[in-house]
Amino acid sequence: MRLKTLEISGFKSFADKTRIDFLPGMTGIVGPNGSGKSNISEAVRWVLGEQSAKSLRGSKMPDVIFAGSADRHPLNRAAVSITLDNSDHYLKSDYTELTISRILYRSGDSDYQLNGQSCRLKDITELLMDSGMGQDSFSIISQGRVEAIFNSKPEDRRNIIEEVAGVYKYRKHKEKAQRELDDTMAYLHRVEDIIAELE
Ligand code: ATP
Repeated sequence: MRLKTLEISGFKSFADKTRIDFLPGMTGIVGPNGSGKSNISEAVRWVLGEQSAKSLRGSKMPDVIFAGSADRHPLNRAAVSITLDNSDHYLKSDYTELTISRILYRSGDSDYQLNGQSCRLKDITELLMDSGMGQDSFSIISQGRVEAIFNSKPEDRRNIIEEVAGVYKYRKHKEKAQRELDDTMAYLHRVEDIIAELE
């Protein structure tokens, strides 16, 4: 799996549609202070489902929409698309190329898309789970994150290690199955009570 392209439009400082092709051999993005390097990595995190406006240096999610500049009006829509080469089927999908998109309007309306089809955030989260690209994974380490990982609670650190090791998904499935089992046991006890009352 390889990151092929990133298309950003109306997101943070990228008012105009901007396409970045991550060609083989490309290892870095350089630019003067304030030119938007961090905004690019935040666009990647955002399109992959980031839900915390604070971790994107905002107070609410619409803060990611281009807020205007001296010579441009603010925009009402931010859109980011990421295209991944999945010819090795590293991500569990039949598609050899996957484009994930996220669109947000200032009104708060939003949409996620997978290869142009609207989908739920859950579909994207499940696609990326255990790939190392999911939310809170190690694939993007923002400024201050290393320190935050060192200072995090042991349970949170364990979640990170489980995500990297690929077992996080199974723990989540186990927790869901356990909840269903508990509900079923509660129903069973209720049925036993009713039978006892009738006898
Ligand atoms: P440094 O090298 O200092 O870390 P950088 O290249 O990583 O800088 P960023 O932090 O990505 O730069 O970009 C900061 C710029 O993005 C600032 O000029 C800021 O005004 C602009 N910016 C952030 N959010 C928005 C927004 N919603 N609308 C317009 N511009 C924005």
